[in-house]
Amino acid sequence: MTLFGINGVRGTANRDLTPDVALQIGKAVGLTYGKRVALAMDARDSSEMLRSAVSAGIMSVGSDIVDLGMLPTPALQHYVMRHDDITGGVVITASHNPPEHNGFKFIGPDGVEATREDEAALEDFCSVEIKTASWEDIGELYHATGAAEAYVDSIVSNVDADAIRAARLTVCIDLANGATCVTTPMLLKRLGVRALTIDADPQGETPGRTSEPTEENLTLLKAMVRQTGADLGAAHDADGDRTIFITSEGEYVEGDLSLAIMARYILKDHHGKVITPVSSSQIVEDVVESSGGLVKYTPVGSHMVVKKIEENHAVFGGEENGGMVFPEHQNCRDGAMALAKMLECVVKAGPLSEQIAGLERYHVVKDKVVCPDSRKRELLDHFIDDAMGYRTETVDGVKIYFDDGWVLLRPSTTEELFRVYSESKDAALAQERADGYVEDATRFLEQ
Ligand code: MG
Repeated sequence: MTLFGINGVRGTANRDLTPDVALQIGKAVGLTYGKRVALAMDARDSSEMLRSAVSAGIMSVGSDIVDLGMLPTPALQHYVMRHDDITGGVVITASHNPPEHNGFKFIGPDGVEATREDEAALEDFCSVEIKTASWEDIGELYHATGAAEAYVDSIVSNVDADAIRAARLTVCIDLANGATCVTTPMLLKRLGVRALTIDADPQGETPGRTSEPTEENLTLLKAMVRQTGADLGAAHDADGDRTIFITSEGEYVEGDLSLAIMARYILKDHHGKVITPVSSSQIVEDVVESSGGLVKYTPVGSHMVVKKIEENHAVFGGEENGGMVFPEHQNCRDGAMALAKMLECVVKAGPLSEQIAGLERYHVVKDKVVCPDSRKRELLDHFIDDAMGYRTETVDGVKIYFDDGWVLLRPSTTEELFRVYSESKDAALAQERADGYVEDATRFLEQ
């Protein structure tokens, strides 16, 4: 099986991700990133085992390790960015995946997540025998402290901390028993926020609730916000690069919607470009354009968003899953920064429920068709031919714009699937259009 997916390596611990595999990945990391690699892990039960194995691999090829212990992914990225002697980073995490999973995320020397080229090099190294260093060149292991504090300092300095403190907010926060337990409570304390936590024990089963911060997995958080009269609810995924928000009324806010709200808030003071994948809701483009900004679309995948932010000197970017990037802090998705900036946004622009109430809502339908890799190009060409005369966007698959909505037809990069997304203000129309394209694709593939 292939372990490398759209975001590093993922697999089941001790089945796909054995100590042997981690050892080999460690050697590959040492060869790819060189002299001194920073290492962090999330709170999963299997993370310690994988940390030992990947560390042995890294040191065996002559690279040193700076072990930062348990940290969210963006905090490790912040450390790598701030330390010139660090030549790369690894985080042991499976992000939002279930507890039996684990994985590795790879970070380049500038603190930005690994490019596809780096990941391809790592993957190639994983399938060859790697020569280890001679005994006198074996790498050393260092432990560093203070990474969490420096990361929180940077976030505090990038928001209007005085305004947030003065508002004396109460926030309910669900940490999924993840690595954010070591940073987010500290951040909220620094911002003078009264924090009521759920699943804030990183020694417990991780993730505490069911993996992804979807609406059905945040029932407890929604109830807690309502019952305590909190000003805001927020939930991180297990490695802390994403945050989903709950209004003070206990309403779940879709990631695209919080992205739109945040983009509008940022564009008030900083005119410029906003970067988001082509799969994001039209609400983002509507709000950005009416706020005097410009949306640039990327293929699906956070590394593409980060890359395009840099190329375009964009002011903000993010994904529909709650991942937000604030380039003035650092160029990566950052759940704690998203939380702090949303607190500032609520203090200065009003409660989230009121901010959302003014926005028109869209309905999105996500479907898929099984499609062998060998026929993906053919099917995509068929859709592109079919879209003649319509506005299209072909940065990833083809997005076809109609007067009353859009469809996005894109081949999956990791599975033998063709994804069909359809969005409209009219829910029935969105469904009808998705069904039509699924039928068309099925018919085409039967030929
Ligand atoms: Mg994550």
